[in-house]
Amino acid sequence: MLGKEAQRMEKGGADMLHLDVMDGNFVPNISFGAPVISAIRKCTPMKFDVHLMINKPLRFIEDFAEAGADIITFHAEAGSPVYETIEKIRSFGCVPSLCVRPLTSVDEVFPFLDKIGMVLIMTVEPGFGGQPFIKETISKIADLRAECKKRGVNPDIEVDGGINAETAALAASKGANVMVAGSYIFNCPDAAGAIARIRSAAENARA
Ligand code: ZN
Repeated sequence: MLGKEAQRMEKGGADMLHLDVMDGNFVPNISFGAPVISAIRKCTPMKFDVHLMINKPLRFIEDFAEAGADIITFHAEAGSPVYETIEKIRSFGCVPSLCVRPLTSVDEVFPFLDKIGMVLIMTVEPGFGGQPFIKETISKIADLRAECKKRGVNPDIEVDGGINAETAALAASKGANVMVAGSYIFNCPDAAGAIARIRSAAENARA
């Protein structure tokens, strides 16, 4: 069933599949782990962006890399040494990415900007789908873009949570270039139309 949905997104024109892994500990919900990702991997060649909302992610990097992750995003707040986790992700040929929750300052990722390929700014509290976008998180995107410019680095800036055509435009106007959408696309029978609306709204608003 997940494999079918993945294929629907692939046909709909999505650039990658964002997979939320929740452990019922770091966040108050449980989703799925590496075996499920490995099963979806067999159904699509799409790029997999695996978002680890789990405690002590360092222990599981190998499992997720082997399950077929291309990008591995983890939280600096999750209790693993950040440099070591980044290095481990790289050692498996995956792109390391760091995530900040709405209440975490974006400055937390600044020391690692030259070591990672992406920063994920959570635009809702992680753990549940279908939440409304928190507008206050928008200023973090602009601060992060400015800091990247200062340091001469250019990681992708991804936003996750409450993304639709309107909030994608808002995020893109501040410098985000990767949009994660859940409910907006998955609840829509015409996934291709929803993806196209997000893409064109973001492109028109691009900073
Ligand atoms: Zn996510």
